[in-house]
Amino acid sequence: MKIGVLALQGDFEEHISVLTKLGADASDVRLPEQLDDLDGLIIPGGESTTIARLLARWQLLSPIRRRALEGMAVWGTCAGAILLAERATGLDREGLRLMDIAVERNAYGRQVDSFEAELSVPAFGSRPFHAVFIRAPRISEVGAKAMPLACLADGTVVAAQQDKLLATAFHPELTDDARFHQHFLALAAASPPATIRETESQAATGVRRPA
Ligand code: GLN
Repeated sequence: MKIGVLALQGDFEEHISVLTKLGADASDVRLPEQLDDLDGLIIPGGESTTIARLLARWQLLSPIRRRALEGMAVWGTCAGAILLAERATGLDREGLRLMDIAVERNAYGRQVDSFEAELSVPAFGSRPFHAVFIRAPRISEVGAKAMPLACLADGTVVAAQQDKLLATAFHPELTDDARFHQHFLALAAASPPATIRETESQAATGVRRPA
């Protein structure tokens, strides 16, 4: 399993270390051609405006979108989740806009800039996931194409998934519970969703499967 971690800014090294412990072939990504043979890409936490500016400068926006549409799994943590969202309040430049979610940057307010919480993640069973939030975005809407994956005790959604795309408002790379990284490796190993396979086979054969 070959997983890249976008290494323009932010805490990419922590992700690489968890992935390596899990036995994945993890490497840092800075150039478009490094995306070509990846099964998955992680966009780490950091400062979403800075990462967005560097994505544009290094001409990575279109290649990442194209590889995601071809079935590469993509996971955004915190700033990375902001970059994955189709709708992001407070982001003054173009993100990847791949996921049908809306986020608000820095929505938890100054006095609670950072906090830790036990999350309920039904897909992982009954054991809660201890999560670290650092100037986190709020996932304010999960659209019809996406689904919530984890929430705070008050029901606020803090992780969402859409096919092979994953967004978490917190930082699983900063704790030693690797369940989100394991979940992402399983997504990266999965075949592309049917809609993508159909688009690819249409492109290859020019034939559209009857509805
Ligand atoms: N507040 C940052 C932003 O808006 C995200 C913080 C983080 O990734 N921990 O980009």
